[in-house]
Amino acid sequence: MEIKDFSNSRSIKVNCDFCSNKIECPEDMLEKSKKHMCFECFITKKSSREEIENVHVDISIDKISDIIASEMADAMTEKIFPEIWTKRKNELKGLSKKDLAEEMLGAGTYLGIKSFIEIESIRKIKEDDTSDKKS
Ligand SMILES: [Zn+2]
Repeated sequence: MEIKDFSNSRSIKVNCDFCSNKIECPEDMLEKSKKHMCFECFITKKSSREEIENVHVDISIDKISDIIASEMADAMTEKIFPEIWTKRKNELKGLSKKDLAEEMLGAGTYLGIKSFIEIESIRKIKEDDTSDKKS
């Protein structure tokens, strides 16, 4: 699947190959795509990368960032929450509901920003790596 912003190109009405819903396909993408998939099918089918190769998925850029953010948040919560709970159980149990909500939102935001910065710095190191090899 290619993630591109086609908001400026003309789109053509096509049918989803999986549920036959009417969707739109950008003109530039029509030739390259073997199949079309609507957003609902994309969500419910949970297709693998190989399965949606050459498939045009009718999905907008803002939906993509929503999906990635919510999947990352779910994965992080599943992984990190048990650790936080084990470590801080007694302290957290003493808080009021509002204080607890605030504390947890803060902890979540902190972890999200921290991992974003870590990912960015790893990406920068990798970029430096490849430019070193070229010279
Ligand atoms: Zn569909």
